Amino acid sequence: MRRVDIVVPAFNEEACLEAFHAALAPVLDRLPYRFRVLFVDDGSRDGTREVCRALAARDPRVGWLSFSRNFGHQAALTAGLDASDADAVITMDADLQHPPSALPDFLAAWEGGAELVSGVRADTHRLGLLKRLSSRAFYRLLNTLSKVPVLADSPDFRLLDRRVVDAVRRLREQGRFLRGIYGWVGFRQASVAYSQADRTAGESKYGLFRMLAFALSALLSFSRTPLRFATWAGLVVSALAFIYGLYAIAQAVVFQVALPGWTSLAVLVSFLSGIQLLTLGVVGEYLGQVLDEVKARPLYLVADQHLPPLAPEHPDPGPESA
Ligand code: UDP
Ligand code: MG
Repeated sequence: MRRVDIVVPAFNEEACLEAFHAALAPVLDRLPYRFRVLFVDDGSRDGTREVCRALAARDPRVGWLSFSRNFGHQAALTAGLDASDADAVITMDADLQHPPSALPDFLAAWEGGAELVSGVRADTHRLGLLKRLSSRAFYRLLNTLSKVPVLADSPDFRLLDRRVVDAVRRLREQGRFLRGIYGWVGFRQASVAYSQADRTAGESKYGLFRMLAFALSALLSFSRTPLRFATWAGLVVSALAFIYGLYAIAQAVVFQVALPGWTSLAVLVSFLSGIQLLTLGVVGEYLGQVLDEVKARPLYLVADQHLPPLAPEHPDPGPESA
């Protein structure tokens, strides 16, 4: 029987994990694979660790890793991929927004030859209006500015074949945007529609500010177009300045008009300084990104972990066994 690891990042999810496990376990029981469930406790400050330990004590399929502090969702997913040696990895959220009932569809697509199966939210109207609009605008912008295709409405609910896991693990960039990385690695891709439930308990860890920071980091790591903005803005402004210069010379020399000129000077100076500061800011953002990459710090630190030994073969293997 093939082995499948389910990677579940959890940051302050003590209120969700029991319900998550209760919903997941019966689905796993019915499927003919050897499963492990790896919770990645991303430096939680509530009882998440204790709940993970309690679940592992009850269910031999459950393992966990605890980070030394909060390293973020993308780092937690990466740690799960690093820890797994299964034939496929499924990543899903701990808040039951990604329904375990969709897992058979993911596995069927994998059996059908897909190496990267992406969950795509079918009923986006359930999201708040702000989240829906901002997410649509973000994906449109990203796909315009970047050559790497990034699926919209497709959060981190995925199945990765071993080959994709190995490929993704070779990309150790700090400015981590896995949805972009999945587009970048390629392979045979398929998608599965699922309807996203509301969060069972607790609250979303992505506030407006964190979403913006995440979107910026995604843009920086998958597009260099904003940098090119400096070149184009420079060209356009120089052309305009040249035309304006001709006009000013003509006025002074040909028509002998003496200009007071204060307003045009003030407007020009402030316009140009604005463009210069903006450009400097863009360059600075990329430089910061380069600094982070050059330092090459580890993406996360594991303080403590329990990985269950390979699930034993079931005495009555299902029809899939080879
Ligand atoms: N998460 C994490 N580290 C963080 C933030 C979030 O591991 O720093 C986990 C969180 O526990 C959840 C998943 O990432 O399992 C998605 O987070 P959340 O549900 O808050 O995001 P949303 O669904 O609101 O976009
Ligand atoms: Mg969520």
